[in-house]
Amino acid sequence: MIHALEIQHLTKSYDSGVKALTDINLTIEDGELFAILGPNGAGKSTLINIAAQVVRKSGGRVSIFGCDIDRQPQQAKMLLGYTPQDIALDMFFSVREILRNHSGYYGLRHNDAWINELLERLGLAEHADKNSRELSGGMKRRLTVAKALAHKPKLLILDEPTAGVDVELRHALWVFVRELHATGTTVILTTHYIEEAQDLAGRVAIMNHGRVVACEETEKLLADFGSRQVRVKLTEAAGGAMVDLPEGLRMGEQGGEVIGELSTKGSRPFFEWMARHSERIEDLQIEEARLEDVFLQLTRAS
Ligand code: ADP
Repeated sequence: MIHALEIQHLTKSYDSGVKALTDINLTIEDGELFAILGPNGAGKSTLINIAAQVVRKSGGRVSIFGCDIDRQPQQAKMLLGYTPQDIALDMFFSVREILRNHSGYYGLRHNDAWINELLERLGLAEHADKNSRELSGGMKRRLTVAKALAHKPKLLILDEPTAGVDVELRHALWVFVRELHATGTTVILTTHYIEEAQDLAGRVAIMNHGRVVACEETEKLLADFGSRQVRVKLTEAAGGAMVDLPEGLRMGEQGGEVIGELSTKGSRPFFEWMARHSERIEDLQIEEARLEDVFLQLTRAS
């Protein structure tokens, strides 16, 4: 089976001596929408830049849809579209010219129909003839996304595409990314907004200190490591402290309520406790597990 991205024993040490990646193994399947999360300095951009062939790896293998970046670098490049975290645009050209030049670089001479669609979908149509210098930060970010997509890559990698971008564009961008994904593009993204990854990605890898510390389906990660916040309001008649609280729960400081965390697995003791005390319980609030908490737990632990 051909994988969209296959990374085996990937390592990277920069000349400065910083070891940015240590023995990374990661396989992303055709058609996935995959998120890579990690604190600053975890190695996410290094990994992405190696796949995009803008940073040289120190060891290991990387292939894109079966094309090894060492043996078939050109084919691998054609299959990948990527938005780097740092925006670098050619300041002497207009938005449309940049997209045309980029298409030409990939051997696509008659690409105007697709360029027009990208301009439209990314809200750039009215800026198409402006010099890229004149664009606002958010517009520049849109242009990097249009550039990444100009040659219709099978694999799209977005490195922090929503950094510094207003809410409206973030929303529009994710709607577009979902559509691209639905029509067959494999998407890998990194984002600081962990709730975005939770909403979008079917599978998530969490990186820390140059290693992958977890790689799971988002739902499974939440079930295995997530916990739900619980707040149980006691009736006035109940008064006093509850003595037989299940693990993870405690009396609230204000009294009159029980608060704490409920594991997404093993909530039976909690339900049994509720059943034992049903006449003393007035109300119940449970907040869903959040990927952000799983992220903090895993990155702190490692
Ligand atoms: P992330 O994208 O997760 O924030 P990076 O891949 O940018 O992480 O960085 C991983 C590590 O590599 C960090 O310690 C960073 O300082 C270092 N690093 C990144 N780029 C370079 C570079 N060009 N030269 C030297 N060190 C670098």
